[in-house]
Amino acid sequence: MSVALLALGGTISVPDRARGARLSGTEITAAVPGLAGTGVVLDVRDVHAVPSGSLTFAQVLDVVALASRAVAEGAEGVVVTQGTDTLEETAFLADLVWPHEAPLVLTGAMRQPAMAGADGPANVLAAVRVAASRAARGAGALVVFNDEVHAARWVRKTHSTSTATFASPGAGPLGHVVEGRVRMLLAAPRHEPLPAAFDRERLEAARVALHVVTLDDDGEQLEGLGTAYRGLVVAGFGVGHVPGGLAPRLGELAGRMPVVLTSRTGSGSVLRETYCAPGSETDLRQRGLIDGGFLDPYKARVLLRLLLAGGAGREEIAEAFARRG
Ligand code: GLU
Repeated sequence: MSVALLALGGTISVPDRARGARLSGTEITAAVPGLAGTGVVLDVRDVHAVPSGSLTFAQVLDVVALASRAVAEGAEGVVVTQGTDTLEETAFLADLVWPHEAPLVLTGAMRQPAMAGADGPANVLAAVRVAASRAARGAGALVVFNDEVHAARWVRKTHSTSTATFASPGAGPLGHVVEGRVRMLLAAPRHEPLPAAFDRERLEAARVALHVVTLDDDGEQLEGLGTAYRGLVVAGFGVGHVPGGLAPRLGELAGRMPVVLTSRTGSGSVLRETYCAPGSETDLRQRGLIDGGFLDPYKARVLLRLLLAGGAGREEIAEAFARRG
């Protein structure tokens, strides 16, 4: 049984102050008690040793390409270690293009390696077990953390410091690692993978803005957006509402670029046809906004950027959100 492990930096690699350099993938795995006992042969590679907030879409797609190559060369699964800050976005980005049955498992740590109760080793051990598990095959990209297995499309970072930060609101974990055994309880819906080979210039140009709607929002922040961005995700109130006065401005933007409506609440979907006041979901849909379904604003932004980078038009984008949202 062989698993590739790609190390990308993050808290799991942060050294104590005296050492200076980040821990390599080999150093991270050397500190994991019980790893040798799993019988999994690890092929460890260092990729980008950066905080996860500095990762780019292009770098994540390069990591997916490396992971794909490892699978083509015989790895039964792949583990990616990275910072936790953007893990919910990178996991979903990888999931959208991951074409293999082999699981792609992302993990990291909330506590640095030198801290009491460092969680990196336990997370790596659980991630390797999931990556090597038959039960996780076909599940796409997964986030394994705190002995829980989460679907990339639902997982969120819900706490700034807790080691139990990753959760899937409204869905729950797909599975658990118990006494070293991977127990999958649920399956998330899988969709046809998007093509992974994007023209890098198009990807760069497919800039998507995110606007979080707030009380008494006059939309001034949206001024000039049409020239710098190709798409917009709106994180609306509750079921997908905005102040009535903001609706015409969003409608105008929706005439120029895809504008996707999501909820800023953190769980649940936007509605389609329950409220009719100006700024309601029905009004915004009539003005051309696309319904983001259950996708949270950050994940909707990832999907919209990939669709735009792939050259999708408005109808194709609306259809993709209807299927994947
Ligand atoms: N929590 C940060 C991250 O998501 C860690 C920062 C660092 O690696 O220096 O990457």
